[in-house]
Amino acid sequence: MKDPTGNTSALRLADLIVKAGRVYAMNRAADVHAALAVRDGWIVAVSDDRDGLDALASDGTHVVDDPELTLLPAFFDIHEHLLDSARNLARVRLEDAHSMDELIALIRERAGHTPKGVWIQTSNGWNESNLAEGRLPTAAELDRASTDHPILAPRGGHVSITNTRGLELMGVTSSTPDPPGGTIGHLPDGTPNGVLEGGAAQTIKGLVPPPPLAESVDNLADACAIYAASGVGSVREALILPEGWEVYQSAWEQGRLPIRCLPLLLVDPFRPQADRLAFVEGLGARSGFGDDWLRLWGLKFVLDGGVAGAGMEEPFANNPSWTGHLNWDPDEMTEVVSHALARNWKVATHAVGDRTVRTVLDVYEGALERNPDTPPGTLVVEHAFLADRTQRARAIALGISITVQHPLLYVNGKEILESWGPERAAAVMPVRSWVEEGATVAAGTDTVRPFDPMLNVWGMVTRGTKDVGVQGADHAVDQYTAIELYTSAGTRLTGEADRRGTLEPNRLADFVAYRVDPVTAPVDELLSLTPALTCVGGHGVHDPHKLLEPANGA
Ligand SMILES: [Zn+2]
Repeated sequence: MKDPTGNTSALRLADLIVKAGRVYAMNRAADVHAALAVRDGWIVAVSDDRDGLDALASDGTHVVDDPELTLLPAFFDIHEHLLDSARNLARVRLEDAHSMDELIALIRERAGHTPKGVWIQTSNGWNESNLAEGRLPTAAELDRASTDHPILAPRGGHVSITNTRGLELMGVTSSTPDPPGGTIGHLPDGTPNGVLEGGAAQTIKGLVPPPPLAESVDNLADACAIYAASGVGSVREALILPEGWEVYQSAWEQGRLPIRCLPLLLVDPFRPQADRLAFVEGLGARSGFGDDWLRLWGLKFVLDGGVAGAGMEEPFANNPSWTGHLNWDPDEMTEVVSHALARNWKVATHAVGDRTVRTVLDVYEGALERNPDTPPGTLVVEHAFLADRTQRARAIALGISITVQHPLLYVNGKEILESWGPERAAAVMPVRSWVEEGATVAAGTDTVRPFDPMLNVWGMVTRGTKDVGVQGADHAVDQYTAIELYTSAGTRLTGEADRRGTLEPNRLADFVAYRVDPVTAPVDELLSLTPALTCVGGHGVHDPHKLLEPANGA
């Protein structure tokens, strides 16, 4: 037997042995074991015999012996905004509102104990489909919550609503033109309605001062604990600004990252080209810096908007004069991506619409021509909602990886159906085709709030949505594949599969245990499953039944 250092001479004993029902390795061979041994945070042995590792037990070994348990690798959310999700914990929780009146009341309540003139910010994990009115609020409605405070109500990553005070601070009037890559919403009489999309939403966010560092670190630690409790062991943090790195590094220094985080730094699309090049030039650090807890994954580009701002080949179903927008001139983006590749950065690009997916592949192709030694997996397309066979083949041939997030379809299905029509809604995220055609693809959430991993698995298996039923049943995958995409596939995408992501020797001991086997359970039963244990690096980061406490050992 080898230990992680390759030492074969002295057989050291285990700190922890789990004798379970099934231990899904989620490796290429699709092994299923029955027991697993951990030492110093690493898996040192597995066995197909529940008692097969007994020889590794000594006085100091804790043994969990429970044939009901099924072990999976801990979930790896390949695309989530953990820091934003953490900040949402301290913001007005609009997820709790079911009508416009409730939404206004929640903001008004916060205004009641916030000094006048100070920004009030809401969470951004809410969606208007949860409101009885089924639409976004207006500036006038937010004014009913307060006219003494500027209000920022971001919804998702690409849309924000503000009140009249916020519009004033932004300098927006009836005659203000749309900024590059963005739109300012208007009422029929031409006055701004408070709804800001793309570049306009970005501008107002820049006016709100970030919270103090210590508060951000506390929130991040709290959010990590919530994600760990749902079985998540790693998050690829899909977009941070430089100050976000400071929050992550502070949490890491203080030992307050119980899950593994891999941030992506934004290259601001709304800056002049010289500034973008200087930003990449001036970073100094590059992809891969860090350790197994906190590692800089790479750079993030945002090429189009969300559902409302997706760059489309054909007009929107609900607006025949609108085909969305691109935030970058393709030639300028090719130059910056090439610049980044030459400096050993990995690059990921948000691309939702079909025109955007085609454009980002053009950009990547151009950048790869200039950097022919770029290893596969360096370039990633995030979401790739509308990717037909031609574009999929291009991505796969170019060695470009893909991330998918069924929760976006689950939550935004109604908006997608209304905006893009049924054909395009059914084509969103062709997960099964990506898998069958041989793409490097991994799954995440992108919900900016904790999302039940089993609801995500259920969604990939059923293609079900919150409001509009099944969309695109052809793109469904089986339960095993869905779980693999959401666990070990993540570390294959990030290039860490030799260290973690599978349950086999010489991998970090990151696993989640259930009392029902999520691979074989009837699909609707998944929705009621919660983890019995989450371990990251051999530590119980979620242990509601105290399985890892001495009294429960053998
Ligand atoms: Zn995202």
